[in-house]
Amino acid sequence: MPPESLRCKECQNTYPLDARYVCERCFGPLEVAYAPREHVDPDELRRRIQAGPHSIWRYTDFLPVAAPPRGTLPAGWTPLLRADRLADQLGLGELYIKNDAANPTHSFKDRVVSVALARARELGFQTIACASTGNLANAVAAHAAAAGLESYVFIPADLEEQKVLATGVYGTHLVAVRGNYDDVNRLCTELSGEHEWAFVNINMRPYYSEGSKTLAFETVEQLGFQLPDRVVCPIASGSLFTKVARGFEEWIELGLVAGQRPTFNGAQAAGCSPVASAFAAGRDFCKPVKPDTIAKSLAIGNPADGPYALELARASGGSIDSVTDDEIRAGISLLAKTTGIFTETAGGVTVAVLAKLAERGDIDPGERVVAYITGEGLKTLDCARGTFEQWEIEPTVASFEQASERLAAVA
Ligand SMILES: *Cc1c(COP(=O)(O)O)cnc(C)c1O
Ligand SMILES: [Zn+2]
Repeated sequence: MPPESLRCKECQNTYPLDARYVCERCFGPLEVAYAPREHVDPDELRRRIQAGPHSIWRYTDFLPVAAPPRGTLPAGWTPLLRADRLADQLGLGELYIKNDAANPTHSFKDRVVSVALARARELGFQTIACASTGNLANAVAAHAAAAGLESYVFIPADLEEQKVLATGVYGTHLVAVRGNYDDVNRLCTELSGEHEWAFVNINMRPYYSEGSKTLAFETVEQLGFQLPDRVVCPIASGSLFTKVARGFEEWIELGLVAGQRPTFNGAQAAGCSPVASAFAAGRDFCKPVKPDTIAKSLAIGNPADGPYALELARASGGSIDSVTDDEIRAGISLLAKTTGIFTETAGGVTVAVLAKLAERGDIDPGERVVAYITGEGLKTLDCARGTFEQWEIEPTVASFEQASERLAAVA
């Protein structure tokens, strides 16, 4: 299914497959359009996929690149785990956690960066850049290093220290901007007009966003070529949310999997919930907000794909919900205690929204549900501080017994 053109999502005008992202006629966003397939044999296609590498490149047929790149950090093929103890706690039936923290730089951003960077190399770019809420910075710096390309990474100056350190180590040009993500994004949009750089989430955005489809493909494959009934996904710009849906749709259209598109539930932090607010108000557009939340990786106040996320949640019978910072911390803790997976704040948002849906009775116990855990807890360590007890003792048995008795008395 070779990529054919870039096409405007609003007016359908088409453009060549180069570094551009906005329609010159109507300013709508561009996305990749593929040539229609003739004579698809689903069995043959399935066999081809299964013979591929254990990375997103087993899905090259569905991605906007001419060929899989060589010698890069392999992203994807992360575990899909059945989470029975979490399901029991929430009163749910068949529940799975897709753990995308198990990527090279510990978030789902390795998928989207891999695709954008592969296309950028095909187009001849020497320098890669991004406007990041944190995880994108890690991924761009690492994948550029692996490919031997120069990189510029722009982040809000108040980013978590763990994410800053885990980016700088790769030898990128790390630029901390005194402003929030939306300021960083505006600056980078201006810079992309001044420099011959591939900004993965600006002028390469149509390619970048296609990378998220691989989360849907993997889910289907790991379920034995079956669909979930419902998925819960975090929303920042709304790219992940809408492209996971696109992934399921493509495979249903091709006959690779039977059934219908799952119900889509979006998850936002209350401190930055422009899409959840629009959903609740019955609006089909988002009002920009100023983010104030511990879920910094989701802190986009003006989400580019907000209207499409709203449309998807409504059309699929789902919803978009928001949770407070305390609920996010509780979500991190619940996931850790029931599955052994330590997620960052974005994963806490997803689990807290899953819990809210379960409590509200929105999920039938007969449903097969997949929750997307998109990042690693070690990157937002501060949120774990103060959430548990620790004993400090002298290195003697007596000291241990004493502490043990004291703690038992308190409990
Ligand atoms: C970037 C990111 C998302 C989703 O971002 P979108 O802009 O909505 O695609 C989700 N979780 C984490 C951890 C992220 O870093
Ligand atoms: Zn247009």
